[in-house]
Amino acid sequence: MTPTGAAYLKEVRSFLDSHVFPIEAQVMSRPFVESVPMLATLRAEVKRRGLWAPHLAESLGGRGMTLGEFAHVSALLGESPIAHYLFNCQAPDIGNCELLHDHGTPAQKKEWLEPLARGDIRSCFSMTEPEFAGSNPVWMGTTAVRDGDDYVINGHKWFISSAEGSAFTIVMAVTNPDAKPHKRASQIIVPMNTPGITLVRNISTMGHAGSDWMSHAELRYTDVRVPVSNLLGAEGEGFALAQERLGPGRIHHCMRWLGICERAFRLMCQRAVSRELSPGEPLGNQQAVQFWIAESRAEMDAARLLVLDTASQIEARGAHEARERISLIKFHVAGVLQRVLDRAIQVHGALGVTDDTPLAGWYAHERAARIYDGPDEVHKASVARRILKEYGLPSRTRGKE
Ligand SMILES: Cc1cc2nc3c(=O)[nH]c(=O)nc-3n(C[C@H](O)[C@H](O)[C@H](O)COP(=O)(O)OP(=O)(O)OC[C@H]3O[C@@H](n4cnc5c(N)ncnc54)[C@H](O)[C@@H]3O)c2cc1C
Repeated sequence: MTPTGAAYLKEVRSFLDSHVFPIEAQVMSRPFVESVPMLATLRAEVKRRGLWAPHLAESLGGRGMTLGEFAHVSALLGESPIAHYLFNCQAPDIGNCELLHDHGTPAQKKEWLEPLARGDIRSCFSMTEPEFAGSNPVWMGTTAVRDGDDYVINGHKWFISSAEGSAFTIVMAVTNPDAKPHKRASQIIVPMNTPGITLVRNISTMGHAGSDWMSHAELRYTDVRVPVSNLLGAEGEGFALAQERLGPGRIHHCMRWLGICERAFRLMCQRAVSRELSPGEPLGNQQAVQFWIAESRAEMDAARLLVLDTASQIEARGAHEARERISLIKFHVAGVLQRVLDRAIQVHGALGVTDDTPLAGWYAHERAARIYDGPDEVHKASVARRILKEYGLPSRTRGKE
């Protein structure tokens, strides 16, 4: 980090200590939507302190950080489940901001990117469908058919994070069914109040349906009509744009997960020294606990270096060239996250499964880390295939036509 970046991190740490950690349990213990007004006041305070949207360009009211710099910030913000939201760098908006910034027309930027950057609106990304394997991103049933100057969209999507309360969504839909699989779909901006969009339900995951930003919706699109000018990028480029969105997105996720690990690690160590098994005999004297602490530290530090190195590779060579490393960090860090959380819960005993600490909530909700943005197996297979290709493994044709 530059000295300016380091000073920024210090200010963020101080804000987390004074304003965020004290209220997060209250926020997490009730439907998110009930906390939105209180969080709006905190978001205004983040802005007032000049800490807002570190990833965004200064012209958009952000700090103009590089991907590598923002990675450090994301790890720090990851220590609280609500911090990314408070600093306006939360998924899925951050990915949509990047898409609009890089591919939006001036009119699209004015209408959607600027209010997103100010934090006046939220957005979501509609790609996955219940009837098709999300692991195969070029296979989907949603269509967008040209009718004069409009597209008419029909389809069924699910697990659309933060759809409730969003002002718009970016929909992946097939516009060119006769093209090659990777060229069939396009990305189209759809205001959420367009007639024909139905939010069927917020899907209950691990016992909670969630609300507002903290939710995952099932959506139906029935004859949803939007102007052709809402197309993002060129027709048939949807898959390429989605891949581009996922590259830096995986850095953000991995660093957020490492932030969760740091918090869990801190809680684990605090508990290890404060919990006595008998008078004068702290839990931390047990070798099993010491092993968990040492293994966690090693795994977290190694993962952090791997992610930061991948961020510099993306900056130097682009996401496409760095795709093997991006796949490596995605499954590797998701595994580190799961192991560290599991050990921290074990050290806390029964307390670990209560909601008196953030550990249980993270353990439940971040199980999905091994599934979203590509399941572990897909990333492992693609890394291994690329390695084995160098040893002469022939390419495989898959039945995806
Ligand atoms: C919390 C959460 C938030 C999400 N948010 C969004 C969102 O905002 N927008 C959106 O569009 N989508 C979102 N998703 C959907 C997510 O991207 C998909 O769940 C993911 O791509 C996997 O697709 P699938 O669920 O259809 O699983 P499937 O494709 O049916 O795969 C099921 C399992 O099969 C195995 N598998 C798949 N392919 C292979 C392979 N090649 N080799 C070996 N094994 C394999 C894996 O174990 C995988 O878990 C979200 C999902 C979750 C859980």
